[in-house]
Amino acid sequence: MSDLTERARQLDATHAHTDRRSQFRIPEDVIYLDGNSLGALSTAAAETAADVVSRQWGGQLIRAWNESDWWGAPERVGDTIGALVGAAPGQVVVTDSTSVNLFKVVVAASRMRPGRSTVLTDPDSFPTDLYITRSAADLLGLTVELVPVAEAAGRIAELGSSLALASYSHVDYRTGELWDLEALTRAAHDVGALACWDLCHSAGVVPVGLDDGGADFAIGCGYKYLSGGPGAPSFVYVAQRHLADFDSPLTGWQGHASPFAMSRDYEPAASITRARVGTAPLISLLTLEAALTAFDGLDLQEVRRRSLSLTGFFLECLGALGVDLPLATPREDEHRGSQVSLRHPEAYAVVQALIARGVIGDFREPDIVRLGFAPLYLSHADALAAAEHVAAVLRDKEYERPEFRTRAAVT
Ligand SMILES: *Cc1c(COP(=O)(O)O)cnc(C)c1O
Repeated sequence: MSDLTERARQLDATHAHTDRRSQFRIPEDVIYLDGNSLGALSTAAAETAADVVSRQWGGQLIRAWNESDWWGAPERVGDTIGALVGAAPGQVVVTDSTSVNLFKVVVAASRMRPGRSTVLTDPDSFPTDLYITRSAADLLGLTVELVPVAEAAGRIAELGSSLALASYSHVDYRTGELWDLEALTRAAHDVGALACWDLCHSAGVVPVGLDDGGADFAIGCGYKYLSGGPGAPSFVYVAQRHLADFDSPLTGWQGHASPFAMSRDYEPAASITRARVGTAPLISLLTLEAALTAFDGLDLQEVRRRSLSLTGFFLECLGALGVDLPLATPREDEHRGSQVSLRHPEAYAVVQALIARGVIGDFREPDIVRLGFAPLYLSHADALAAAEHVAAVLRDKEYERPEFRTRAAVT
């Protein structure tokens, strides 16, 4: 045991330069392994939220649109997120929810490939991705085919010129498996189709490389690893080469080329602004902008190394402590996002027992104990302590206690 403690100490020293824990406000008695669902609060985010409400809204009132540049915030914050996901400026805007942005992309992308009848996505996608893709495809009279990522390249080649769009998650929300964005994008391009990536579980933890990987479109959440706060707006990426053809189905006034001309007719802005719809949730958007300062001075490659070290060490600790649950997450570094998902028939109760011990993770259907490692504010010491709690819950069968088996409304 003291060996592991010593290893944790050494690893924390090795990765000290990527430790941003002091910028976050995490309760002392909590090991927070759910930053992939709702990122933790940073001091910068808390202070900015208060400032936006009191000084900007309260004091500047309507003048804040200019004085605090509320108007330019969606593109400004978009560029900041762009830098984290490998997108040059001018291709990312922060607006609406991930669900809504996916809708815009599926429709706009399919319209760019007229005569092609199929949209491909993963049967294990996050449900909103499935629902939205289907309803967008229905509107255009297209068929959605559900093909697991591992089989997608083969199916894309078979579909050939009938494929319009391949839409996949970069990291699987349940298993944490990391997929090869560049290879699958190339497969789509080889048949003249387009590729959209959902970055909800990779933005801020994996160097995504949208531009280098040739991605056409991407979307992702602001409230997960980016720590923008509950309901923070989402981001959408449209590659520069597609901007002129990006025909969004949601033509709101804020996507207009001259919104204040108050024209009767819609004319989309030439820039990524055309992906905007209506007025942004400014309190959330500016809170997200402040949260992103936690990444200042960090290279995503370093963040990735810390993340892999944390999840790798956690797996090592589980092994050393005799926890032998089946792993849903790949062991190999190159296929692992920033989470560790374990399978257990009583996964829901295991998660509740862990939460009672202050280790906050979450349950995902049907049998997944999902533990996310937000690298900026977790340490190797946390990883070891969490592994010890998992071992204790299993050893003492705490998951059999009735109070841990009653399902809450939000699981
Ligand atoms: C979290 C998540 C979403 C959430 O979408 P919202 O519109 O923000 O509720 C969508 N897709 C994936 C893959 C997610 O992980």
